Amino acid sequence: MEQIDKKDLSDIIVNQIRKIEQLVGRPVVVYSDYAEHEYLTLDQASHSNKDGAIEVIITNEKYKDFVLLHELYHIELENSGEPIISCAVTSGKEDDDGRILSTANSLFETLEHAEIVKKQIADGSYTPEIKTEYLKGIDHALNPHVTLDLANMRFYRSLIIFDGIVFGEHAKDAEWKMEFPVSYKVAAGFVEQVEKNDMTVPFQFRRALIHVLEGYNDLIISNGYEGMHYHEFLNVTPVVSSRQLRLTLNQLFQIKHSPYTNRATKKDAFILLGVNDGQSVATLNIDPKKVTPEFYKAYYQQTVEKAFAQSGVKYITR
Ligand SMILES: [Zn+2]
Repeated sequence: MEQIDKKDLSDIIVNQIRKIEQLVGRPVVVYSDYAEHEYLTLDQASHSNKDGAIEVIITNEKYKDFVLLHELYHIELENSGEPIISCAVTSGKEDDDGRILSTANSLFETLEHAEIVKKQIADGSYTPEIKTEYLKGIDHALNPHVTLDLANMRFYRSLIIFDGIVFGEHAKDAEWKMEFPVSYKVAAGFVEQVEKNDMTVPFQFRRALIHVLEGYNDLIISNGYEGMHYHEFLNVTPVVSSRQLRLTLNQLFQIKHSPYTNRATKKDAFILLGVNDGQSVATLNIDPKKVTPEFYKAYYQQTVEKAFAQSGVKYITR
């Protein structure tokens, strides 16, 4: 792994790095860890927080500017006050946890791609050549050389086609519709959610995200598989108006004793669910023994703002 000097990066990239550094108040350091890639995919750059810096690693040398800018736009969006997915619980089964998180993250990233594709067209980094390469990668992903049962293939292809339509700007809709009718139909429904909401508006982004998670969960259940339980397993940052912050908690949220374990306390998890959409917004670090009727009463009587502050719930104001 080798650090890339900023002077070897293009002006567009350096400007984007500066923008992020101002936004988050931490330096961005870029490393190369080049590998052979048969296809161009959107995961050939990644980032993590390390020693007070944001470390970005790129693995595709041929398309390094494209994959690096792509990742930098993800970092910018994550830090621009959009609702995010988090998880503070475990089902106790690592495989199940992983499946829930990886599918939710895939759907979430595609939602971000709706904005990123516009940015990468505007900055010139998403060229016709790159689009062709990206679509080749999608086609390869749709026809993997592994045998999965039909239902699991459908689940997987729905995620891929969803991304392919959004980032590939509908280039192959007709083909996918013919070849993979069930997955295409599901993915096209998700795309409709993305396109009818303004994804730069946190409230609308969140609404689209929850619809898409529900849609994917419905696909799984309708094929006879155990659902993903996204509503209770994941927290999605709440978006509330200043009027809603002054309401009492019980008007907007309910506390639920969840079937999962709080990873911080190792005890039963208590989650805060939205009354309207049933989506968890936070995992509460409360001791199950202290959850008495009196506790509920006092907790519910607080204003939303006070309860959020007391429980350290991050939120976005509408
Ligand atoms: Zn991406």
